[in-house]
Amino acid sequence: MAQRRNSRAGKRRGGVLGALGFAALVLIVYLAEPLGLGSLLGGIFGGDVPVSAIAELPEEGLAVSYIDVGQGDATLIVCNGEAMLIDAGVPEEGQTVVDYLTASGVDSLVYAAVTHAHDDHCGGMDDVVDAFPIGTLFAPYTEFDSSGAFTYFEDAAAERGLYITVPTIGSTFTLGGATVSFVGPVGDWGDDLNDSSLIIRVDYGSRSFLFPGDASDGTIADCAYIGGYDLDCDVLKLGHHGSSTSTDEEILDLTTPEIAVASCGLDNSYGHPHDEVVDLLAVRGIKLLRTDLDGTVTVWTDGEELSLYEAGEQAA
Ligand SMILES: [Zn+2]
Repeated sequence: MAQRRNSRAGKRRGGVLGALGFAALVLIVYLAEPLGLGSLLGGIFGGDVPVSAIAELPEEGLAVSYIDVGQGDATLIVCNGEAMLIDAGVPEEGQTVVDYLTASGVDSLVYAAVTHAHDDHCGGMDDVVDAFPIGTLFAPYTEFDSSGAFTYFEDAAAERGLYITVPTIGSTFTLGGATVSFVGPVGDWGDDLNDSSLIIRVDYGSRSFLFPGDASDGTIADCAYIGGYDLDCDVLKLGHHGSSTSTDEEILDLTTPEIAVASCGLDNSYGHPHDEVVDLLAVRGIKLLRTDLDGTVTVWTDGEELSLYEAGEQAA
């Protein structure tokens, strides 16, 4: 417990710095607009998707923010004022996620999901559970035999009187005007914890987003081949931070995204996103966004058009 308290103190310091960084970038973005730098930011992303250099998102539509939490995942989904969080980064980034949600105007979560028990996904979720009322808490299991981050998450949930719900694969839920579907995993995950990842699809109007956690390519493909679920999407969060173990030709054939997002840390020791994946995306003309280089990125849609927003911290 002492180790955890030390860890939490570190989180709070990071949170203050994170908030300052957020405020600074909001100011930069605010100043950039009248100076006509919006098109410059658009140039950074390139391609067809327009970039709007504003800090605040429209209240309508669906906004998906891939939060820069270093080497880890944390994704905020807001639709018509209702919010869902998928993962919350490593323990040290929990306060970053809390701060980002607060700065985004989120004061409660209809759903929060932990994709699997690795600490770069569930590590910060105890802070989120402490900070916000949550309607339903999803995870692939209700307990995990370790003394690590999932246990802290379990404890935080229990302290708040929250039950962990294991979703039925194939079940759907509404988030504002969006539909959230659990499409995997469809088989036994064996001894690879990454393959226990909940695989989540979000549809709004004609647009769709896929979140495969850290599942490997075979496990993702099985959602289509065994489960019969449609994996075709417009925005794909690359599995396992852009690892070649999660993305290959077959996965891109099944998903056909317009935009791919790698949620990874700057100069991470794993080499994520892997060069093979970056090359595959380039050959197909798929726009790659990287939290290590682009910071937090938000994709917004009205159900038809897609837009990009710069609304978070810059990692570089
Ligand atoms: Zn991971």
